[in-house]
Amino acid sequence: MIKVTGLQKSFGSNHVLTGIDIEIAKGEVVVVIGPSGSGKSTFLRCLNLLEVPTGGDIEFDGVSLLRGKHDINQLRQRMGMVFQQFNLFPHMTVQENITLAPQKLKNVSKPEADKIAQQLLRRIGLADKAYSYPSQLSGGQKQRIAIARALAMSPAVMLFDEPTSALDPEMVGEVLDVMKELAAEGMTMVVVTHEMGFAREVGKRLIFMDGGKIVEQGNPADIFSNPQHPRTKEFLAKVL
Ligand code: ADP
Ligand code: MG
Repeated sequence: MIKVTGLQKSFGSNHVLTGIDIEIAKGEVVVVIGPSGSGKSTFLRCLNLLEVPTGGDIEFDGVSLLRGKHDINQLRQRMGMVFQQFNLFPHMTVQENITLAPQKLKNVSKPEADKIAQQLLRRIGLADKAYSYPSQLSGGQKQRIAIARALAMSPAVMLFDEPTSALDPEMVGEVLDVMKELAAEGMTMVVVTHEMGFAREVGKRLIFMDGGKIVEQGNPADIFSNPQHPRTKEFLAKVL
């Protein structure tokens, strides 16, 4: 579904991504780990062109995103993204947060968008929060709403950038549970996380990034028990 070849991204003289090659199949859950500053967020942001790569190529369903002309909004509609800091619109209710993009970008009618929102809210156990504002929600609830908001666009791929890193420990589980369900339903997911339990349980493939490259990848359990690269060993010794 996604084919990345020789992906590079520099900010001025800072070469952040120095050549990433990866193919991600439909329904695959890829977990990305690595030290701070290794380029994990930049990699995710390049995938949906929140950052414009400075080299290499990204193909999505066989079509290059970097050659030829593309409607960036249409591309982003097919890739949902969830951030560490939720990024909900503070002046809108939960329901308005979820229904805005489908109405604006996909011409979905308000009644239809409301129906989708209500289904999603039931699915994540927050049907009673439709008319609440983000400030009235806990961090875990906000992040579940952010996931629902992304899902309202029916994306083909979901990108998660440390979705539980800003949460109090007792709220991490409820967000991971929603992500686990999504994975079980066959959603294609790329997840940057420090949750090694989630990586082991849900990840079909684990990617270790360092210095803007994929240093090691494979089955999560194999890498945890028997990392090959010295940098992977060093990193895992600190986090496991
Ligand atoms: P990670 O998510 O693995 O912690 P990032 O992708 O956020 O790493 O950052 C990798 C490097 O890219 C860092 O050195 C960071 O300062 C730099 N960087 C990221 N985004 C930008 C930006 N918009 N402008 C300049 N430098 C950036
Ligand atoms: Mg990051």
